[in-house]
Amino acid sequence: MSDNCFRVVEHFVSINGEGRRAGQLAYFIRFAGCNLKCEYCDTKWANEQDVAFENYTGELLFDMITNSGVKNITLTGGEPLLQPGMKELLEEFRRSRNINFEIETNGSIDIEPFFSKREDFIEDNVSFTLDYKTGASGMEKSMCLHNYEIVRNNDTVKFVVGSFQDLESAKDVIERYHLIEKGCGIFLSPCFGKIEPKQIVDYMVEKKLNEVNIQLQLHKYIWDPDMKGV
Ligand code: SF4
Repeated sequence: MSDNCFRVVEHFVSINGEGRRAGQLAYFIRFAGCNLKCEYCDTKWANEQDVAFENYTGELLFDMITNSGVKNITLTGGEPLLQPGMKELLEEFRRSRNINFEIETNGSIDIEPFFSKREDFIEDNVSFTLDYKTGASGMEKSMCLHNYEIVRNNDTVKFVVGSFQDLESAKDVIERYHLIEKGCGIFLSPCFGKIEPKQIVDYMVEKKLNEVNIQLQLHKYIWDPDMKGV
């Protein structure tokens, strides 16, 4: 197990608000710190320099996960891939084949070094939900475009869109990197308060975006949109 300590700002069991396992129970572990500053960020508090965090060893995280009894684990942030030792930790997690680990990453960090080098996997139980930050975020220039070339069929690409231009940009990335052909999950998610879900559906109909999903962030409808720990 990795000797590193991981900076955790919160952990809780809730439902997956988005992604392929939306609606299912998930154990969320949120790590401190992010390298981006998205305009719509709803977890800015977790990225502050002076945020309160606890140090967890990989072993302790693993115990928490197995004791939770939850089979979907979401590592999120902030940006979880910034944590030193994360590569080794994910390799350890891959030993627990009956648990699904989803890494929510912001698209600016090369995910290839975090892929497993093992060749005995039929399907990796560690998957990546990769954001592509469109114009609404103000961070589009920070995207690591290599990620969209190497994304695998058990990974997901998520576009948070806030305007027609963002939808055009998402469509361009989907086509340029052949995301549909790669078989990864593709989600368009409205930037809360900036675009109506119906506008996204209208766009999907007009452009015939087959195999692309609209995704409403469930937790923003179930709980107060600003509530933490859900
Ligand atoms: S990448 Fe995520 S956590 Fe970081 S600033 Fe953007 S929305 Fe916030």
